[in-house]
Amino acid sequence: MDVVKTEQVCKEYSFGNQRLVALRDITLTVQAGEFLAIAGPSGSGKSTLLNLIGCLDTPSSGTLTINGQNVSGKTPDDLADLRARSIGFIFQTFNLLPVLTAAENVEYPLLNLKELSKAERRERVDRYLGVVGLSKHAHHRPNELSGGQRQRVAIARALATHPRIVLADEPTANLDHHTGEGILALMKDINREARTTFIFSTHDPKVMALADRLVQISDGVLSA
Ligand code: ADP
Ligand code: MG
Repeated sequence: MDVVKTEQVCKEYSFGNQRLVALRDITLTVQAGEFLAIAGPSGSGKSTLLNLIGCLDTPSSGTLTINGQNVSGKTPDDLADLRARSIGFIFQTFNLLPVLTAAENVEYPLLNLKELSKAERRERVDRYLGVVGLSKHAHHRPNELSGGQRQRVAIARALATHPRIVLADEPTANLDHHTGEGILALMKDINREARTTFIFSTHDPKVMALADRLVQISDGVLSA
């Protein structure tokens, strides 16, 4: 099944009378269970594309289908539920809430899933902190964790809602090479075991090499 399908997607930014075309005619299909890297230099459009796929932003034109649902023309607000249930996000700068513990950060997106009881939330938090090897750090705040550990918390947070798609925008860019490889290996293990689709961006050739499939983006244009 296609979990992501973009057809001729364009994204333009305008400020005053200036226009900037960030993405041009992006046509891309991603199947369930893929481990796909979007590779390109800084400013090439990687974040813009991941933000569209993640329904955080909307295309200027073209068709975007996520999890079988045509999301083109809908506002990010309309798509809050799809985002909360189907998509997990991992960011370059981790984006953990500094006042919350690791466990509370992982629990946070679960609060959107009203069908989960408190006990079920706790069980998911424990399970996914275990998956990323941080059970012993559950009560630490982000500033008491290393960069690699913070990114592991972010991975647990992204997975806890059982999304079909995990989007990771340069997840290793703020980590040293060795730690970054560990993070990629962990994502790959989860991809294999849970068949979760991963789409991650990078400009690091060593990270690109770890993808099962690679697409390149340059000046807003995608090539296989
Ligand atoms: P990457 O993630 O590959 O570094 P981006 O997707 O962030 O690239 O940016 C692609 C292009 O779009 C860049 O020229 C950038 O300056 C521009 N851009 C990104 N976000 C915005 C925005 N919110 N407003 C205006 N221009 C933007
Ligand atoms: Mg970016």
